[in-house]
Amino acid sequence: MSSITENPPQAIPLTPWQEAFVRLADHCIRCPECSAVDAKGWNLNLPCAGRDPLQAEYRQAWRQAAATRERSRA
Ligand SMILES: [Zn+2]
Repeated sequence: MSSITENPPQAIPLTPWQEAFVRLADHCIRCPECSAVDAKGWNLNLPCAGRDPLQAEYRQAWRQAAATRERSRA
């Protein structure tokens, strides 16, 4: 007899854009430039060389996902 603890459910695999988003969000949380805020708590949106490639990757993956949805709808 098997129990749920012996057979943990598989984690739902992330799509490429979700993975890219997680990497981007993860960077923004840890990075001092990306998480810098002013006295009112607004994000200063400082330029960050580390964020740029992650953001580009996310945008590209998102566009691909959107294009795939577009194709499957047609
Ligand atoms: Zn950053």
